[in-house]
Amino acid sequence: MSASPIQPEQSRVPRPEAERLRAGIAGLVDATIRPPAVGVDRAALLEAVAQPREARLRRPTLSLGAVVAIFRRDSWTCRYCGVRTIAPPVLRFLSEIYPKEFPYHPNWKSGEIHDSWLVLSTSVDHVVPGARGGEWTSPENLVAACWACNSAKADLLLEEIGWRLLSEEDVRSDWDGLTSSADELWRRAGSPEIFTTWRRVLKVAGLAGTPAGVLG
Ligand SMILES: [Zn+2]
Repeated sequence: MSASPIQPEQSRVPRPEAERLRAGIAGLVDATIRPPAVGVDRAALLEAVAQPREARLRRPTLSLGAVVAIFRRDSWTCRYCGVRTIAPPVLRFLSEIYPKEFPYHPNWKSGEIHDSWLVLSTSVDHVVPGARGGEWTSPENLVAACWACNSAKADLLLEEIGWRLLSEEDVRSDWDGLTSSADELWRRAGSPEIFTTWRRVLKVAGLAGTPAGVLG
């Protein structure tokens, strides 16, 4: 998958785990930069924050193909606010073509990146956040969301913020997130080696606009 942050919550560690790590690392920093206090065992502190490889990133990851299937099901439309979103590769290729007018910033630096990324970029959201017990990969718990709603909702439950989920029928339309233009935009951008997984997934899904091999 590309480096595009289409799944912001994917990088989030459950809060209790984050708090445990924070406390452990704070203790380790203290023991590292100050004269060791009596009874402080740095090795024990290190062991407390060490993690076996299999314990890392326990949350199941979603393939981009599965994510795009969710976007298609929801007609690339935010299931929270109903805005029609734009597929990340389309925004990215536009930025390649119009770097001044349509700037992109790899860290999504506000003021440096075009506002459309922060407002309209298609993302996938867990309706019940995984950190709150929601299913990580079940399509019933996954929805297309505009970036604005996704970041505003964070790890909250709908009832906690008074939001309502639009049904699949509510959002069904022929909107495709402009994916039918993705391949042509990529070509006009000079065929950059970016978003390659996205381009492959869109092509396999028949969404990229140009059937494989026709314009090659
Ligand atoms: Zn929205």
